[in-house]
Amino acid sequence: MEKSTIALVAHDHKKSELLEWVNTHIEIMKRCNIVATGTTGGMIADNTGLAVTRYQSGPLGGDQQIGALIAEGNLDALFFFWDPLNPAPHDPDVKALLRLCSVWNVPVACTPATADLMVTSPRFLSAEHVPHKPTY
Ligand code: PGA
Repeated sequence: MEKSTIALVAHDHKKSELLEWVNTHIEIMKRCNIVATGTTGGMIADNTGLAVTRYQSGPLGGDQQIGALIAEGNLDALFFFWDPLNPAPHDPDVKALLRLCSVWNVPVACTPATADLMVTSPRFLSAEHVPHKPTY
């Protein structure tokens, strides 16, 4: 069976939290194709040895590249540890990315608590879990 593709993104103040989360779930991560925004992806690849497809850094368009994957039907889940306490120059891109998850019914976790629940679900990475794709 083809591996599921997941995207990992963390804002700067959340990067260490995401790295810790990835390490906690490393065996599950190994079963996924991982894509990420530039800096997040570099950090994960360097510190875990996981293969990561890296897009542009978030402020340079990386969030939008992940959004394009969603629009094309090529992303199975998003783990996006965004920072609720600091404004970012690309806040509109963040909103757009989260919006596309809702448009296309893509599972998205913005906190470690939700992310834990998502990856420990027996339906995560299971062929039985095929989210309904809206037709519009
Ligand atoms: P980064 O981008 O991984 O390149 O830091 C994340 C973001 O700010 O959206």
